[in-house]
Amino acid sequence: MTQQTDQFKKVISHAKEYGFVFPSSEIYDGLSAVYDYAQNGAALKNNIREYWWKSMVQLHENIVGIDAAIFMHPTTWKASGHVDAFNDPLIDNKVSKKRYRADVLVEEYVAKIEGKIEKEIEKASKRFGADFDEAQFRATNPRVLANQEKAASILKRLGQSLEKEDLADVRALIEELEISCPETGSRDWTDVKQFNLMFGTKLGASADTAMDLYLRPETAQGIFVNFLNVQKTGRMKLPFGIAQTGKAFRNEIVARQFIFRMREFEQMEMQFFIPPGTQKEWYERWKEDRLKWHLALGMGKENYRFHDHEKLAHYADAASDIEFRFPFGFKELEGIHSRTDFDLSSHEKYTGKKLQYFDPERNENYTPYVVETSIGLDRMFLAVFSNSLVEEELEGGTSRTVLKFPFALAPNKAAVLPLVKKDGLPELARTIVEELKWDLQTVYDEKDAVGRRYRRQDALGTPFCITVDHQSLEDQTVTLRERDSMEQIRIAIADLKTTIQDQVSITTLLKKL
Ligand code: ATP
Repeated sequence: MTQQTDQFKKVISHAKEYGFVFPSSEIYDGLSAVYDYAQNGAALKNNIREYWWKSMVQLHENIVGIDAAIFMHPTTWKASGHVDAFNDPLIDNKVSKKRYRADVLVEEYVAKIEGKIEKEIEKASKRFGADFDEAQFRATNPRVLANQEKAASILKRLGQSLEKEDLADVRALIEELEISCPETGSRDWTDVKQFNLMFGTKLGASADTAMDLYLRPETAQGIFVNFLNVQKTGRMKLPFGIAQTGKAFRNEIVARQFIFRMREFEQMEMQFFIPPGTQKEWYERWKEDRLKWHLALGMGKENYRFHDHEKLAHYADAASDIEFRFPFGFKELEGIHSRTDFDLSSHEKYTGKKLQYFDPERNENYTPYVVETSIGLDRMFLAVFSNSLVEEELEGGTSRTVLKFPFALAPNKAAVLPLVKKDGLPELARTIVEELKWDLQTVYDEKDAVGRRYRRQDALGTPFCITVDHQSLEDQTVTLRERDSMEQIRIAIADLKTTIQDQVSITTLLKKL
C-alpha cells in the first residue's frame, strides 16, 4: 500500500470510529457516495460554515446572505446552461464494465507524471542539502523539463478537445497514452459519451400535470434569480455580493474518494455583482482574499496552489481553482470564476424581465458582471480533517493520534476531567462545565484513567483539557492542558473562560484575515 492510500484509509476509519462521518443508511449497507455527518462531524461542519459565513457577511458591509430553495422553476436550468451543457464525458471499460470520467483518467495520468517530478526534486534536495535551489532545478534539469512539457501538452490537448466537444479525440488520447482500467488493466474502451449530471424529480401528484424538476446542481442560481429582489429591498449599490450556503446535487459518474466527490453535498457560494469592465480587477482581488481565508487556518502555505483553467465553463471568461494537498494529491477545493453577465443576461432572455442596475456614477443602466467564489463545505471538511490527523511519536516509545484542528473549528473546545470519581471532584468539575457551557462547547468525561482521557480528547481534536484534582478543592485552581504541545499550566478556575476563549473563538480566527 502506498503511503498516500494508507493515510487516506486512516482518515476514513478515524472519521467513522470517532463519530465524524458515517456512510448514509449504513444498516442497509450504505448508499454510494452519500454520507451522514455524525455528532462531531456536524459540529466541525457548522464551525467551518460559520467561519465562511461570518468572513463574508459579517465582515463585509456590502455582502448579504440569503437562503434560497433547493427546488427552482425548471426553466432556470435551461437558462443557466445546465440542461444542455452540464455534462461529464464518460467512458466504459468493456472488460471490467466499470465507468470512468474520461477527463479524470487523463488527469490521473498527468498526476503520475507530476508525482515523478516531485520525486526527482525530493531526491535532488536530499543530495544537495541546504544549497538546493528548487526553482533552478525545475528550470534546468532535463528529466524534469521533459516531464513538465509532457504533462502540459497532454492537459492542453485535453482542454482543447473538451472545449471543441471532440470526444473522439479524448478517446484517441486515452489510447495513445495507453491508459488502462485502474481495476483490471484492460485497455478495451468504449467511445466517450456525454452524461448530464442533474437529478430529475417531479412536482405534483397526478402523472399528467406533474412538472419535471431538477434538484439544484449548484446554489448560485438561487442567487441570480433573486438579484433584483435583494438589490432593491437591501438598497444595495454595486459592487455588492450575495452569499449563500446550501445543498447541491450531482449524479457524479465517478463518486469515489469519500466525501471529496459526493452525490449530495453542500456549497458555500458568493456572487459578487460588479460593473462591466472591472471583472479582471475583482477576480484577482477575490483570488487573493479567498487564499487568505484558507491560510488564516494555519494548515501550511505549501498545501495550497492556484490552478488557472485552460478549459473554461460555458459561463466564464476566467477561472481558477484553489487546489489543496489532499491525501491523494493536489485537487480542487474552491473555484473562483469570472462569470461575466452570462447568468443574469440569460435569465433576462428566458423571462423577458430586465435584471439591470442603474449606476448613478456612470448614469446608465446595465446588466452587472459577476465574480463568484464557490467552495464545497464537505471538501473543506475533508481538507481540514485529513490535514489535522497526525500520528505522533512520544518520548518513551509510545505514540498518540491527534486531530490538530485549527482551534476555532474544533467540535469541542474544552473537556473537563475530574482526576478521580470521588472526594467531591466530579461535583466541582460539573460546576466548571456549567460555567463554561454558555460560551464554549464543553464536555465532561470521568471514565478511565486521566491519561487515557487525554488521548481520547486528542483523537477528537479538543484543544483544551481541564483537570480537577484535590488541590482544586483547596485553592480553586485546575490544570489546563493544551492539545498540541501537551503543556500543562496551573490556572484559576475564574480565568478559564477568557483564557480558552481568546484562543478558540471564531472571532480570533476572523481577526487574522
Ligand atoms: P470537480 O471538477 O471536482 O467536479 P467542479 O469544477 O465541477 O468540481 P464547481 O462546479 O466549480 O466544481 O463547484 C464548486 C465547488 O463545489 C468545488 O470547488 C467543490 O469544492 C465543490 N463540489 C463540486 N462537486 C462536488 C461533489 N460532487 N462533492 C463534493 N463537493 C463538490
